Amino acid sequence: ATERLCLGMDFGTSGARYALIDPLGRILSQGKRDYPTLYSTGETMDWVSSWKETLFTLLHDVPLEFRPLISSISIDGTSATTMIIDGNSGEALGRPYLYNESCPDALPVVKSIAPENHTVCSGSSTLCKLVSWWNENDSSKDSAVLMHQADWLLWLLHGKLGVSDYNNALKVGYDPELEEYPPWLKSQSYSRALPSVIAPGAPIGQLKQDITLRLGFSKDCVVCTGTTDSIAAFLAARASHPGKAVTSLGSTLAIKLLSTKRIDDARYGVYSHRLDDKWLVGGASNTGGAVLRETFTDEQLDELSEQINPMEASSLDYYPLRGIGERFPVADPEMKPRLHPRPASDVEYLHGILESIARIEAKAYRLLQEMGATPVEEVFTAGGGSKNEKWMKMRERVLGVPVSRAAHTEAAYGAALLALKGIDQNIREHA
Ligand code: ADP
Repeated sequence: ATERLCLGMDFGTSGARYALIDPLGRILSQGKRDYPTLYSTGETMDWVSSWKETLFTLLHDVPLEFRPLISSISIDGTSATTMIIDGNSGEALGRPYLYNESCPDALPVVKSIAPENHTVCSGSSTLCKLVSWWNENDSSKDSAVLMHQADWLLWLLHGKLGVSDYNNALKVGYDPELEEYPPWLKSQSYSRALPSVIAPGAPIGQLKQDITLRLGFSKDCVVCTGTTDSIAAFLAARASHPGKAVTSLGSTLAIKLLSTKRIDDARYGVYSHRLDDKWLVGGASNTGGAVLRETFTDEQLDELSEQINPMEASSLDYYPLRGIGERFPVADPEMKPRLHPRPASDVEYLHGILESIARIEAKAYRLLQEMGATPVEEVFTAGGGSKNEKWMKMRERVLGVPVSRAAHTEAAYGAALLALKGIDQNIREHA
């Protein structure tokens, strides 16, 4: 039993998944659990117990025969989901702040200390959550420790309080380039609650002994730092060289490009996460599949797409949006959707919409390049639109680079790859 297996877990908005891989990245086992709910009221039960229960349910779901072969574990969580923990007792000091929750009360204070347009200058940033907690609580401040959802779940496994990764920590104000909290943050009284930060996928410690004994995991299993759910989904595509990108064609269009240079531009909502010695540059447009779904059923989409000749450019010039306003690659809060003229033929109409979205995608990659990012070389595709082969061909023509469907898009798979990186590092450090 020398096979080194890696376990990744993804804690998303409605449930959690796991993926177990071998060193070659082959999936040996995977599973999903919805968060338990209180059926009597239909309300989700308290998140702390819910996530903890789901974590251990997933560990139980991992087939018994694999458990002793697992060398490392990593977890991703929703970005900016924040918990304040009592460092002495390990108990949560209040309920978690969810990823999309806003703390407008803290925003003026945060804006007054942070540089203009910094990522923390949004009501839902982790820093606003920390400041809001700090202002609302009188006691427990001395022992308060801030943890992101992934940090906390990993802590349940390794037991060392106050460790995070620089992907999760970006929205609390950590500077991944200088590898420290900036002076304007360090000088605040609440900075003592901030976790220490290391790279995603770095070994933190051994899996706790009571867990290894109770569940039959190896005593040598290491627990590694995690990342955010959207970064884990990018990692899953294994786009590991500068110039490789992942376009997500879901309700909206999101692009992520691996670059040697860091790009940040608040006007366009473009910002960069660090991935070792590279930068993951991301931007999101309001165009995307939501408009398609308003016009066609998924069956119609399949059937009409079949009839499109993807080598032929559509002369229709649309800007499909569901509402008013666009951010990237055009920053215009007043922009109106443009879907006229509508031709008599639905095939032509769909062709025009898909081609227009492809042009917006191309413009997005061009804009990143103009800002200084590594030029795009190859695009992997994720999301509901990725199954459309004709669209893929059209995008390849419009983008001028190879476009394919990503082999893996599950964040849990990306987390498992982080765990794999963690054992490689552990071996190097102990060699
Ligand atoms: P999200 O998670 O963002 O809601 P998904 O990744 O599940 O979205 O993708 C759903 C989108 O995929 C829908 O908006 C739908 O219009 C689009 N979609 C589904 N089938 C096709 C298809 N054959 N061609 C293009 N788009 C499609």
